[in-house]
Parts: sequence; C-alpha cells; structure tokens
Amino acid sequence: MDKKIETLVKNWQKRNIQGLYCGNKAKAKEEILKIIPKSGSIGFSGSVTITELGLADELESRGNKVFNQYKSGITQGENLELRKLGSQADYYLASANAISEKGELVFFSAYGNRIAGISYAKNVIVVAGINKITATVDEALSRAREYATPLNCKRLNWNTPCFKDGVCHREICLFPEYKRMCCQILIIEAEVIPERLKVVLVGEKLGF
Ligand code: SF4
Repeated sequence: MDKKIETLVKNWQKRNIQGLYCGNKAKAKEEILKIIPKSGSIGFSGSVTITELGLADELESRGNKVFNQYKSGITQGENLELRKLGSQADYYLASANAISEKGELVFFSAYGNRIAGISYAKNVIVVAGINKITATVDEALSRAREYATPLNCKRLNWNTPCFKDGVCHREICLFPEYKRMCCQILIIEAEVIPERLKVVLVGEKLGF
C-alpha cells in the first residue's frame, strides 16, 4: 500500500469510516462477499464499478435477496418501488463519484434513492477504484460533475446538455428541455456509527 493510500485509510478511521484496501477487483469482490451474510437483503445504485465486479448477480445467485431496479421487463412503477426497497435493505452497495485525499466521499444522484441508501442504510459498502481519488473536496465535486456525469449521461442516453458535448452547462440543464442527472449531491464527511460505512478501495482503475 503506498503512503497516499495509507494516509487516506487513516483519515477514514478518524471519520468513523472503515477503509479496506484491495489490490485488485477480484480481491475486492471476495472481501465484499465475505462481509455480507447470505441472509442479508441488498440494495444497490447504478454503477459501472458495481457492474464490473458482477456483485448483484453473484449475490443473487448465492441466495441473497437483491432489490434489482435494472431487471428487464419491469414497469417504471416497479422500478421506483425497487429503488425504495433497495435504499432500506440490510446492505447498500454503491460507488463514489469521487473521494478526496482527506477522506470526504462525493455522490451525485438523479432519483435520490442512492442518497437515501448511502446516508441511512444499516450497512453501506462503497467500492471505488483509485482513479476516483482527488486532492481536495472541491476537486472531487468537479470530478463528479465535469468528468463522471457527462460520461454517465452518454452511457445511459440521458437528454442533458453534457450528453452532446461532454461539458457541464448546469445553468440551462433544467426541465422540461432537458432531463438533468445532477439533481442531488451528497458529501459524507464522517459517520456517527462506527463501521456502518465501509469503503473498499481497489488498487486499479474501476468505473469512471
Ligand atoms: S448539471 Fe446537467 S449538464 Fe451539468 S453535468 Fe449534470 S447533467 Fe450534465
């Protein structure tokens, strides 16, 4: 573990956030599957990182109840209900849009289920590659809005100004002309309950 990551993990300790470092995504997946009991229900937010790890499928196939809002063939109403149930599950899985070296975690959300899950679920596991680390919280916010969200809009085919040119135009990104993706922003600075929030930091590039 290099010095920068060691310091970050120590910074999380001071914030009552448990940081776990894994060298690669296979190891990260193994650790997460060890943490979650087979009896635990699971909610998760849409994330390239979570998809790359194949966590939802693996948990479901070993018997965990997974509230999967991305199941094919469901209605918009069912999708919203699964998002709600997921945010109240025993374990909530998500990735961060960015992480400052001091340990602040930044999340942007459209529907808000991910904000609810991350901020109040009984147990939360955030997985993130080292590519998400920024020097400051301001840079973390910029990374989330100016880098990650335009790529997410492209990936999910959202009608936003950044979809067209990859640049944030937040002043015009409003309804009904556009379907804004950056609707809610969560910054976690610390936790009151120790070990409620775990961050699995992966020593390789994951997601964006
Ligand atoms: S505010 Fe709108 S234009 Fe800017 S990054 Fe978010 S979705 Fe894209």
